[in-house]
Amino acid sequence: MKLATRTTKIAASPTLQMAATVKALKAQGIKIFDFAAGEPSQNTPDCVNQAAYNAIQANFTKYTAVTGIDELKEAIIETFQRTHQLNYDKSQILVSCGAKHTLYNFTQAALEAGDEVIVPSPYWVSYPDQIALTEATSVILKTEESSHYAIDPSLLDSLITPKTKAIILNSPCNPTGSMYDRMTLESVAELALRHDLLIVSDEIYEHLVYDGHQHTSIASLGPEIAKRTLVVNGVSKSYSMTGWRIGYAAGPKDLITAMGHIQSQSTSNPTSISQKASVAALQEGQQFIKGMVQELSAQRTLMVNRLNAISGITCPMPRGAFYALPNVSSLIGRRHAQGTITSPSELAHYLLTEAKVACVAGEPFGAPEHIRLSYTPDLSVIDQGMDSLARAIQALQ
Ligand code: PMP
Ligand code: GLU
Repeated sequence: MKLATRTTKIAASPTLQMAATVKALKAQGIKIFDFAAGEPSQNTPDCVNQAAYNAIQANFTKYTAVTGIDELKEAIIETFQRTHQLNYDKSQILVSCGAKHTLYNFTQAALEAGDEVIVPSPYWVSYPDQIALTEATSVILKTEESSHYAIDPSLLDSLITPKTKAIILNSPCNPTGSMYDRMTLESVAELALRHDLLIVSDEIYEHLVYDGHQHTSIASLGPEIAKRTLVVNGVSKSYSMTGWRIGYAAGPKDLITAMGHIQSQSTSNPTSISQKASVAALQEGQQFIKGMVQELSAQRTLMVNRLNAISGITCPMPRGAFYALPNVSSLIGRRHAQGTITSPSELAHYLLTEAKVACVAGEPFGAPEHIRLSYTPDLSVIDQGMDSLARAIQALQ
């Protein structure tokens, strides 16, 4: 079959592919230490489930307004006011089928052939592919492990051309766990104003921060910058609701309207029941987040300390999100019975087969010397998984 050329520009999401491989192995009865999944392991909070049951019982099971129900938009607006003192009206909010869908709506509404989008690397796997689908170009802004993956404003400045349309920020970042401080955000904001750029700020991990680090939304730096920022967020990570598929955006009205039109002609509204559940999450889920962050913080420390104890691996302590990104470059070239490890993807494959440890290779994140491990499983799984991983690494020659 002759498929559209655009299909050749993207691949299936490598994170979801690895998740599917793990599911298939588990279905065969094979025990896997699953550090691949980009989702919390906690159950969805009871208050959220209850709101969903109530919605079903009330037959709230029909199409809703395409862009989301008023009640959820109001809860989102209230959340932005409470957390960032940001004021939006309903015409500036779009509820979509997950933050990934929010971002997709953005790329389709804002980008076209000839546009350039600056993407700091390492980046979440879906940004470049969604950009590629619009025939715009991703311009990669490299950041370094040695400086906690901070953005260098002068490097950013040097990448801006008349074609630059937008920059994507993701803080806390998947996969690095880094966060941008206020000073960096002010420099990015200043450049965006000077060069008339849109900012997409993916803040889906905003509540998952450790050691007293503070998340700042770039949109909160002032009204001029808020006017050119699309804040992307959702309930997947903070409320352990990855399967419910609710993401949202707040931003300039004309952009939100155009994104809504694309949604109107593609998915229509996000699931009615999930929207009701998300109202409960935003209004009643704050205690749940606190508990989850405490657990994640202990899991993070255990995993990162165990990784750093393995000869050949170094891993900085992440500040937010729930991923460790160890540098495995000194393992490249080592041999095992079946061959030589020549890349992080081969290492990930070796770890899955030899150690039953699932992780995601760094290459599709723009991290060619790394592998990504989620520290979402509980402490005992991390402990045993790290034992198994250490044994497999020690066995390399
Ligand atoms: N942004 C980032 C950085 C992510 O890691 C994810 C995880 N899937 C998303 C957006 C999308 O999340 P979801 O579609 O589940 O809301
Ligand atoms: N964001 C998660 C991850 O990076 C979930 C999978 C996906 O949507 O890519 O693993």
